[in-house]
Amino acid sequence: MNALVATNRNFKLAARLLGLDSKLEKSLLIPFREIKVECTIPKDDGTLASFVGFRVQHDNARGPMKGGIRYHPEVDPDEVNALAQLMTWKTAVANIPYGGAKGGIGCNPGELSVSELERLTRVFTQKIHDLIGIHTDVPAPDMGTGPQTMAWILDEYSKFHGYSPAVVTGKPIDLGGSLGRDAATGQGVLFATEALLNEHGKTISGQRFVIQGFGNVGAWAAQLISEQGGKIVAISDITGAMKNSKGIDIPSLLKHAKEHNGVKGFHGGDPIDPKSILVEDCDILIPAALGGVINRENANDIKAKFIIEAANHPTDPEADEILSKKGVVILPDIYANSGGVTVSYFEWVQNIQGFMWDEKKVNSELKNYMTKGFKDVKEMCKTHDCDLRMGAFTLGVNRVARATVLRGWEA
Ligand code: GLU
Repeated sequence: MNALVATNRNFKLAARLLGLDSKLEKSLLIPFREIKVECTIPKDDGTLASFVGFRVQHDNARGPMKGGIRYHPEVDPDEVNALAQLMTWKTAVANIPYGGAKGGIGCNPGELSVSELERLTRVFTQKIHDLIGIHTDVPAPDMGTGPQTMAWILDEYSKFHGYSPAVVTGKPIDLGGSLGRDAATGQGVLFATEALLNEHGKTISGQRFVIQGFGNVGAWAAQLISEQGGKIVAISDITGAMKNSKGIDIPSLLKHAKEHNGVKGFHGGDPIDPKSILVEDCDILIPAALGGVINRENANDIKAKFIIEAANHPTDPEADEILSKKGVVILPDIYANSGGVTVSYFEWVQNIQGFMWDEKKVNSELKNYMTKGFKDVKEMCKTHDCDLRMGAFTLGVNRVARATVLRGWEA
């Protein structure tokens, strides 16, 4: 299912549960601003190449719009729109003072050299610099981008507006990045999983996990879960997949993936078809890659009892229905992966305060936010007699709706 159709469907279900006014509902759905720019750069061989870049600023009722920038061949307007909308609900679920936005460039970063990526990032920044800012819209990394991308955006932005590190988060530590930001989404996934398991009288230790994705989010989640005694019995990335019922040695896999640019060829597990990763036998499934991967085609074959959505919108609404009938408990993306944007908020706060926190403070604050978020979501589940996804959606949508009404409708 198209990402935007799926996201809108969840929003509308939540709006109905909340009994939102239809005009307010419509206004919450329509993005504040959609930006589309052409980015032409000289390639290393002297030829020109053009790419299309997007920034969708979805809502700013609760504060500056916030969200990552994705470099991926599948970036398209609907996908960016859906992801921007999800950021609005995610920042509200986390209860941090932001709205939502998302950006992206349709490109394959693996096929571009570092200097081509730098030129592309600088041209994109030149086209959007007037529309982002500390108190308007604060980009961050997402798939295919990272701290170096943020450093280029910051540098290019500073040529027009003066040096202002808080204009992006997820920066390198040397440029005002926060300790703990790199691990934050994975760390948040761990705290979220602990909160959910605790409710079911379980702990991470001894549970069997399957993780789809070994990028920033999947790799950190795998590492932190295995440190807590969780067993990673299967894992995949774009290069390949493997399983090992005794548990994959994650520190060795991390070393291998760094040296070989992926998990393929690692000897600590039996190779499997990456397409079958989601239906491998386990207790807890963590999709930590692309959206829409759990759908009506594979939902019936999923064996996990719990799904923790480290990726954005990995589960189609049709799969949601099938899984719910099977009794599978899904911890939704807008809560489960909110650790990244929460530590982005801490980074922004540190930049504005001009005071750097130590890693212990970052992680203990993150734990507070994740624990509180889970309690708030559960509260909404009770109020509206709904599952965790609708609990999170009603929580986020209600907070944004309240802020919108408080700010008023006058032109
Ligand atoms: N790209 C991340 C997300 O989808 C982080 C966004 C941010 O830190 O602003 O939540």
